[in-house]
Amino acid sequence: MNKKTIRDIDLAGKRVLVRVDYNVSLLNGIRVGDDTRIRQTLPTLEYLLSKNCKLFLVSHLGRPKGKKVEEFSLKPVAEHLSKVLDKKVELFQEKIGSKELLTRVSQAKEGSVNMLENIRYYAEEESNDEVFAKKLAQVAEVFVNDAFGVGHRAHASTVGVAKYLPAVAGFLLEKEVDIISKSIEDPKKPMVAIIGGAKAETKITLVDRLLEKADVLIVGGGVANTFLKAWGYEVGKSLVDHEMVELAKKLFWKASRSKTRMLLPTDVVLGDLEKNIHNGVVAGDKISKDMQALDIGPRTQAEFGAAIAGAGTIIWNGPMGVYEDSRYATGTDFVYHAIAENKESLSIVGGGDTLAALKEKDFLKTIDHVSTGGGAMLEFIETGTLAGIEALLDK
Ligand code: ADP
Ligand code: MG
Repeated sequence: MNKKTIRDIDLAGKRVLVRVDYNVSLLNGIRVGDDTRIRQTLPTLEYLLSKNCKLFLVSHLGRPKGKKVEEFSLKPVAEHLSKVLDKKVELFQEKIGSKELLTRVSQAKEGSVNMLENIRYYAEEESNDEVFAKKLAQVAEVFVNDAFGVGHRAHASTVGVAKYLPAVAGFLLEKEVDIISKSIEDPKKPMVAIIGGAKAETKITLVDRLLEKADVLIVGGGVANTFLKAWGYEVGKSLVDHEMVELAKKLFWKASRSKTRMLLPTDVVLGDLEKNIHNGVVAGDKISKDMQALDIGPRTQAEFGAAIAGAGTIIWNGPMGVYEDSRYATGTDFVYHAIAENKESLSIVGGGDTLAALKEKDFLKTIDHVSTGGGAMLEFIETGTLAGIEALLDK
């Protein structure tokens, strides 16, 4: 990456503000569920501790919408980190900008790990307020961004604060950027991209971009319905983004002129979620008016699977069906197993729902890179950078 990282500056004994993405799910609101996002930041934290830094971690949790809402306190996260690090982690609840906070900060010891309370308790965070960013900057002498997952957000704790402190990347941010850039710009061929999920609106620009980069572009899930509709097929009551149908037609034209092979479902699993009707598999051009296409069918699995089996690089975002209902999780499972079976390839998977769909599996072992970013990963693939990365010092 062409930005400075923690390796490139003097950190010895310094106060360091570290933006992390600890927006994890809580069990019963009190215990950390999946802690992958926390564990992925450990190399950065351990490196900073080896330099005797005083750490001040900043994160958001949930959507408190600018207010102090107890259920979004980072307390359980601080407790969990304390266990993982086997070290005390203090949660500072003093207000950002207050004398009380600065006093506590000044008393922090070298090698101590401290966490500020949920940064989204402040409305100024998301509005990237300059005065607020400046107050946040007062806490430290160096700013480290290790929050790839919020890299696409220009907030006070990701972009604003970087104006007032020497700002560098942590190891997780660097790793995400390096591995995703390489897979897009210099992939082991053939490169197979798999796009699924719900909203065509948020994914269609990605389809556009990947038509230039991928050798095979697989489109499944709800996004595929918009393309089936654009092709002229009946899609019944399936999830379709009507405003995107015209753009999908243009992308068919683009695909026909590009070297990228685009694969769409040739059969689907039908049902009606509201009426709880399950109606089995039909060909992609036989969707009845009163039904929804809720998963890819077996023939499509075989076609997608063959492409995945021959891939040198695989990038996947978005489930192939309504995986929350086990009757429509088969396509997503199949794609996962196909990726896991291709041991020669470099595989990258990201997206909140995509990872949730794989939660029960041993996915960390079989997938080369599990991105901590959903939206951030997509935006990074589309544009090659993120607001949070741009704000850092150049190498
Ligand atoms: P991610 O969070 O991994 O980026 P998305 O949020 O884009 O993924 O998409 C996940 C959602 O897509 C899931 O809630 C799933 O039910 C839905 N989905 C997938 N396929 C379909 C489909 N055929 N019809 C309706 N919804 C679908
Ligand atoms: Mg999602």
